Amino acid sequence: MCGIVGYIGARRAEDVLLDGLRRLEYRGYDSAGKATVQGEAIHVVKTPGKVVHLTEALARTPAPGSVGIAHTRWATHGEPNQANAHPHLDCRGELAIVHNGIIENYDRLKRGLIERGHAFRSDTDTEVVAHLIEEYAAKLPLEEAFLAALRDVVGTFGIAVVSRREPRKLYAARRGSPLVVGVGVNGEYFLGSDPAALIPYTRDVVYLGDDEAVVLTDEGMETFSFDRTRIQKQREQINWTVDEIERGRFPHFMLKEMTEQPSVIVNSTRGRLDVDNGLAKLGGLKDVDDRLRKIERLSLVACGSAYLAAMVGEYMLEEYAEIPTETELGSEYRYRKPILDPGREAVIAVSQSGETADTLGALREAKEKGALTLGIVNAVGSTITRETDAGVYLHAGPEIAVASTKGFVGQLSVFALLTVLLGRQRRMSQATGSRIAAELAALPAKIERILAQSDRIKALAKKYANAQSMLYLGRKYNAPVALEGALKLKEIAYIHAEGYAAGEMKHGPIALLDPSFPVLAIATKDSIYEKVKSNLEEAKARRAPVIALTNEGNDELVRIADDVIFVPRTIEMLAPILNVIPLQLFAYHMAVARGYDPDKPRNLAKSVTVE
Ligand code: GLU
Repeated sequence: MCGIVGYIGARRAEDVLLDGLRRLEYRGYDSAGKATVQGEAIHVVKTPGKVVHLTEALARTPAPGSVGIAHTRWATHGEPNQANAHPHLDCRGELAIVHNGIIENYDRLKRGLIERGHAFRSDTDTEVVAHLIEEYAAKLPLEEAFLAALRDVVGTFGIAVVSRREPRKLYAARRGSPLVVGVGVNGEYFLGSDPAALIPYTRDVVYLGDDEAVVLTDEGMETFSFDRTRIQKQREQINWTVDEIERGRFPHFMLKEMTEQPSVIVNSTRGRLDVDNGLAKLGGLKDVDDRLRKIERLSLVACGSAYLAAMVGEYMLEEYAEIPTETELGSEYRYRKPILDPGREAVIAVSQSGETADTLGALREAKEKGALTLGIVNAVGSTITRETDAGVYLHAGPEIAVASTKGFVGQLSVFALLTVLLGRQRRMSQATGSRIAAELAALPAKIERILAQSDRIKALAKKYANAQSMLYLGRKYNAPVALEGALKLKEIAYIHAEGYAAGEMKHGPIALLDPSFPVLAIATKDSIYEKVKSNLEEAKARRAPVIALTNEGNDELVRIADDVIFVPRTIEMLAPILNVIPLQLFAYHMAVARGYDPDKPRNLAKSVTVE
């Protein structure tokens, strides 16, 4: 779930490990720890709380050695305390292990191990793996013991192990939780659960696949399957700049990422738009072009903000590509009985990280049932991209802040491209294709105009910062945007917020309204504007403070609403891309006004790689 860093080489491991952990902090975590090996000794330090606490502890007892592993934990089994923080050791303290993910059969394994005399020091599922390796290592070389233990384990893991028995070796393996090896100069190796941990040291990487293990030594790296068959891996180059993953001049990653949204549109549409002919070209879908032409139904599977982006996508695809489309929560899809029409249905997994466990589960279910599977993903080389038949990258660059902003906008941009592509394969006219393409190309400048209002929105946030609850309303394309606005506010400002399709207000939530319950209504000029305006009047009649979001030049809402945010006009289908931005800014400034760190919301992690 959280972060793994590893190092073997000539540098002080402690420095590389701490630096790597800091780069992974954005993922959200509750404790941190590291183990380094030197000669016959393993040196373990772990602390609850932030990496800075680990750094302080290490300042008191510096870690010797130039081989080591480190971890930031996001507890799944056992409280977030020192004992449960990783690394975990076997009984004799011979080996140390860090783990991301969940060992599902840990209970059964643990009972067996206790019966056979193993003593446990933590409540984690992870610790069983340390003892399992120990047990096998009594009879087998460590490498074989490591692989044998992995064969016994059910669940998801990214795992790294060091041992004082083999002090110049680092073992790692993955199943369902990402790991990447960085190949440094002079025979040094870096390990990370996320390339962000490696990027200052090397751009040469090898992504481990599911059910693959790697052994790193001073002599080189070897990759295996768990049955010890050698696997030849390709090296790849990471082309993100260090700058891209650092905060730059911004106080928070979230603000930086919101500010990057004009270039997200530019990058996600680069080389993909043909305005003159009204076409979209998506290289990643070329190989499945024939199959796409036969598609008569689409299912979009996603979680969190990606799910809400997919809901907007559903409106686009139905209206303009005329393909019946359903948006499904990944976590539900996999457990109900999806009735698929294999030859004629495509299932699209939408995930910023490409590692979202529930979405991946849904995708595998769809694959099992024979559907064409596609991905809309930001993280290049991630699991979803490798398991789908084809897909489209967002090219939004790494998203560090836990609450998605540019990822969401990138997803909407890709849905618009996909709509043009599929629409033009069907009945969409060239004129309509051209209009959508031209409007998409015009969005970056319009987003800039919204971002320029950040200070105004900040002032608005100050005014509403003490709200206990808020209601967000929108209709049609903007109904999911209302949900996304409310989600952002919950996630980072910890304010109870409800997002509703505005027409539903009178069926329930209107009962909540009173002068202490602000309503934010998305009322941009579209086919449903008059209806939303009525909903807004209804809210005002209950004396709820109203913030209206509407288009520049539409002054009639100034009379009804307490506050108005103005955004540029675009076509209805693309309006969510503009409308979500003031809502992101509002949530951000609310969080800051209330004294919270918007980059690291409590209880949340960036990519949810457990069910
Ligand atoms: N399941 C393990 C634990 O609770 C690992 C959690 C993580 O991925 O950080 O310790």
